[in-house]
Amino acid sequence: FLRLSGVRKSFGPLEVLRGVDLDVGQGEVVCLIGPSGSGKSTLLRCVNHLETLDGGEIRLEDELIGYTRKGDTYYPLSDRAAARQRRRFGMVFQGFHLFPHLTVLENVVEAPTRVLRRSRGECAEQAHELLASVGLAEKHAAYPRELSGGQQQRVAIARALAMEPDVMLFDEPTSALDPELVGEVLGVMRRLAQRTMTMIVVTHEIGFARQVSDRVAVMDGGTIVELGTPAEVLGAPKHRTTQAFVRSLG
Ligand code: ATP
Ligand code: MG
Repeated sequence: FLRLSGVRKSFGPLEVLRGVDLDVGQGEVVCLIGPSGSGKSTLLRCVNHLETLDGGEIRLEDELIGYTRKGDTYYPLSDRAAARQRRRFGMVFQGFHLFPHLTVLENVVEAPTRVLRRSRGECAEQAHELLASVGLAEKHAAYPRELSGGQQQRVAIARALAMEPDVMLFDEPTSALDPELVGEVLGVMRRLAQRTMTMIVVTHEIGFARQVSDRVAVMDGGTIVELGTPAEVLGAPKHRTTQAFVRSLG
C-alpha cells in the first residue's frame, strides 16, 4: 500500500536517512521508535514529501510520491500535483498547531472548505461528527486556548481526518502532554486504528506500540535496524539499539 524503498536524505554533509525500506499494508499500524536524531521525523516528512529525497522512492498504491519518473530520471511534481498528493497524508505533530483565532469547529472546517472547496454546511456536518468521534462534541465553539493540551491534540487529529487522508502520520503526538492527558489522545488513536486507518506512529509510548501496532520498526543511524511484530521486537529484541531501548523502559 505504502512502500518506501532505499529512501535517502542528507542535510548538507549529514546523512540522515541511509536507505530506508519499509512496506506498510493498508490498515496497518507501524510504530517507529529509536534514539533521538536517528531520523524518525525526517522519515515522516519524506513520506508526505515535506522533504525532497536524495535517493530511493516512495509509492502510495503504486503512485510515485513527489516525483514523476522518465527512464532513470526523477522530476519533481508541480506544486499543484504535490499538494494534491500531500492531502492523502494526514499529519499530527507534537505541538498542536491549531489556528488560535478560529474556534474548534472552524479549525476542522477550514481545510476541507478552502482546499477541497466543499460547502461549509457539508464540512460543518462532517466536523461535528469528527469532533464527536474524538470526544469533543461539546467543545465546537471553544477556542484552542480554552482547551487542555489533550483536547487540542484531539482537535488536531479531527482536523487532519477532515481531509479524509489515506494514511495518518503521527510524530510523537503525546510527548508535549501532561501525563494524565496522554491516555485520551492514545485512546483516539487506538479507535482510529481499529477503524482500519493506515498509520505510522513515532512514539515512546511502548504500551501503545505493544497493544495497537501491527509492527514495530526501530531506527538507528538513518536505517531501520529491526522490524517485526511488537512481541518480536519488544519481547525479544535482537538489535542492541532495541535492547537498550527496551531496557531503558525498566
Ligand atoms: P527526535 O527523537 O529527537 O525527534 P528524530 O529521530 O526525529 O529525533 P530527526 O528530527 O529526523 O530525528 O533528525 C535527524 C538528524 O537530522 C538530526 O541530526 C537533525 O539535527 C538533523 N536534521 C533534521 N532536520 C534538519 C534540517 N532541516 N536541517 C539540518 N539538519 C536537520
Ligand atoms: Mg523527531
